[in-house]
Amino acid sequence: MKHKTPLLDQLESGPWPSFVSDLKREAESRAKNERGIDYQIPADVVEDILGVMELTYVHKRTHWKHGGIVGVFGYGGGVIGRYCDQPEMFPGVAHFHTLRVNQPGGKYYTTEYLEKICDLWERRGSGITNMHGSTGDIILLGTHTPQLEEIFWELTHNLGQDLGGSGSNLRTPSDCLGMSRCEYACYDTQALCYDLTMEYQDYLHRPAFPYKFKFKFDGCPNCCVASIARADMSFIGTWRDEIRIDQKAVAAYVGGELKPNAGAHSGRDWGPFDIQKEVIDLCPTRCMSWDGKKLTIDNGECTRCMHCINVMPRALKVGNDRGLSILVGAKAPILDGAQMSSLLVPFVKVEPPYTEIKEIIEKEDPHHPINDEEISELLRKEGFIVARRTVAKYREQMKIPVARLRRKI
Ligand code: SF4
Repeated sequence: MKHKTPLLDQLESGPWPSFVSDLKREAESRAKNERGIDYQIPADVVEDILGVMELTYVHKRTHWKHGGIVGVFGYGGGVIGRYCDQPEMFPGVAHFHTLRVNQPGGKYYTTEYLEKICDLWERRGSGITNMHGSTGDIILLGTHTPQLEEIFWELTHNLGQDLGGSGSNLRTPSDCLGMSRCEYACYDTQALCYDLTMEYQDYLHRPAFPYKFKFKFDGCPNCCVASIARADMSFIGTWRDEIRIDQKAVAAYVGGELKPNAGAHSGRDWGPFDIQKEVIDLCPTRCMSWDGKKLTIDNGECTRCMHCINVMPRALKVGNDRGLSILVGAKAPILDGAQMSSLLVPFVKVEPPYTEIKEIIEKEDPHHPINDEEISELLRKEGFIVARRTVAKYREQMKIPVARLRRKI
């Protein structure tokens, strides 16, 4: 390696995979260049990443200069500019811009696509990726300014692929894999996420929505993409009828023929399954009872937390009358900590072309849709009751969708 990295090397010890080892492997592969790649940025870029990180550990401060106006023509997002403040010492990372690339719904790829995007990034970038960033995007880490337009052209023309959102733009919508693999999914997350991505694609590139506005789509209240904590507008699958109970399967769980949690905790002996202790007593609304033969649920009190269904998935299933809830206002400010979103629409059926959902997003004022600052800041400053009144005011302002929603509920 070009630079000595004694501090970073310590991160290779211990039982977990190490990003330092990964970087060294990539640096070695670039140095050998056995595939004869025509590198468009310095081949030793990864060695310089290791060098600058080591220096950061020595000085206990960053050597990245974040930001700077850099991007592709006509777009206000998708590229995050980054420069090194020691370009003479580490010329390979003098520029080290990140690209956000719009990820596919449910993060399903073909092998062919993955090969193509990796080849592109080996040639025109550092070869280092982050699959995926916390907004869901494919993150391509580290390239130089003259490569940006070239990469953008190849992405859009050869891969049929657009950049994702960054800065003050709408962020790339993200979803769980939904009905493609999960029996809990209450609506087709991929279909809705795709439709809204195409509808609002332009706003990923220009800041029409409020700052950093995020949509996220969870198929059920297990919330696998954590939309309740990470999205300005969360779409969470739910049902409005009753949890379906198979009493024979309940008895099989109690009798030990079926493994609780689908066998997920079977690596250790937890003793025999105790339905009272592990399900009934853990129901947050205490709406379940077990008389030794029959499981009963008072569905009017159930908050759809999913606990009982997760423990006994063969016995309990989500209801048949499915749709989604819309929540608003989650965010995670560094100083105040995470704030969960607040319920705006309890239930709406999910049917293409999703007119009600789009009306809610756009509200009555296209230049001022639901503003994360207004709701989440209000929650923080004034408390939940006042914020609920604001949410009610938004509902009032929406008029058409809410009236339609009420008929549907
Ligand atoms: Fe109770 Fe949650 Fe099951 Fe509803 S989903 S019955 S609230 S444990």
